[in-house]
Parts: sequence; C-alpha cells; structure tokens
Amino acid sequence: MRKLGGSLLEQLLALDTGHRSQRIDCGSAHLAEFVSYRTKRLDTVLGPIELNRAYYHCSDCASGVVPRDEELGVSHTSLTPGLAAMTDRVGAAVPFAKGRDLLAELTGIELSTKRVERCAEADGKAIAAAIDIHAACVATGEVVPLPPAGAIPKLYVALDGTGIPAVPVDTAYRKGKGPDGRAHTREAKLGVVFTQTAVDDEGYPIRDPDSSSYVATLEPVEHFGTLISAEARRRGSAKATDVVVLGDGAVWI
Ligand SMILES: [Zn+2]
Repeated sequence: MRKLGGSLLEQLLALDTGHRSQRIDCGSAHLAEFVSYRTKRLDTVLGPIELNRAYYHCSDCASGVVPRDEELGVSHTSLTPGLAAMTDRVGAAVPFAKGRDLLAELTGIELSTKRVERCAEADGKAIAAAIDIHAACVATGEVVPLPPAGAIPKLYVALDGTGIPAVPVDTAYRKGKGPDGRAHTREAKLGVVFTQTAVDDEGYPIRDPDSSSYVATLEPVEHFGTLISAEARRRGSAKATDVVVLGDGAVWI
C-alpha cells in the first residue's frame, strides 16, 4: 500500500513541472533565469519518490532557485515536511540509532542514523529559536498573549533543574567540579505550567487532564526565566485567581 501511495504521489507531483516563466524573482530582487528541469530524490512518508522540477539560476546571487521545492517545503533538504516531523518525533524519544530502527520498523522507511540526527537537531534548533523569539517579545511587551477563555481558579508553575551527562563539545569552556576542572554535565532546566480545578475523594488537588505545557533549556537561568514567565503569561497567569509556584527553594528558582 505504501509503494502504491508513493507511486501515486510521484505522478501527482509530476503534474506541476515547477516552471513559472523564463525569468523569476530570485528572492533578492534580481531575475533568475530558467536553466533546465532537474530530478531530485525525495524521501516521503510513502517512501522514496523522484521529483522532476524546473531549476533557475541567479547570476547576481550565484545560486539556484527552485520554486517547486520552496512550495513543497523541501528546499535544501530531501526529507518532506511530513517525514521530517516523524523523524523528529523518534529522534526526540530515543537515541538516533534506535530512532532509525524504530522508524524502519514502524513505517518501512530506511534512513541513516546521521540523517535522523541532522533532521531532529536542525528542526529542534529552529523550534527553540522560534520559542525564544516569542518569549522575548512577551518579556518586552511587544506581544501580549490573549488569556485562555473561561475561568482559571488555580494556575501552577513548577520548575526544577538537574545535571545531565554531556559530550565534550557541549561542555567546552564551561567550568566544572571534576579534578580536571572541566564540566562533564550541564544543567537541564525544566518548567511545567498546568491548571487544577477539582480535588479527589480525599481532598487532594487533581491536575486538569491535558493541561500541562512544558519549557526546557540548557541555557543559563536568565534565559530560562524569560521562557517560563512567557509560558505562564500565555497560559493566563494574569487572569488566574491563584498562581502557585512549586520549587525546591534553590537560589536560582
Ligand atoms: Zn539573486
């Protein structure tokens, strides 16, 4: 079924050659000239397919322009957005080599460990950058999140940090407590925001189902502070009747 779907997808995508006109805007206000049709191999959730599409070249930028790739979200990558999202999921859940095995077992799609790693790390960086920008805008007041609809009797903000083992490249230039003076761990800081409205039969508070949202970073506390306060505001801290902060009393918390 997957191969059949892949074959249909390939034929469907072939209906648009990606040729827009002889010259198109390169994106930097020059004209890029049509050169030829070129074939690219794509890995999709339906397996590998070939995409034949128009290739343009901008002599001012000395680079290629492929409108079809941009439209399909496959510029500078051979993984489709759908397969990339699946790869990111397994890459976040288990180590990359196991992620490759898991992906192959569940979907029949074979990728190298390196591709799983590159995909998950690139997308993770992009997501973290987008969250950072949003949090910074909330901190400066450029963005004011709309509070959620409905009453919020109790909003909880729980935060903590813990040392996690890190490879040397991630601890470079960081001082540690070890005999060689180098750090072998980094502190992961994790925050969760959730709401609570009900109590159980014994009167203990129950976390509202599906109400938890998380932020996490290896960056210093100032950065984490911006992230968690933006998340609390997004979740309606200004509107909540009570805001409860759960922490172990560490200085940074
Ligand atoms: Zn150009």
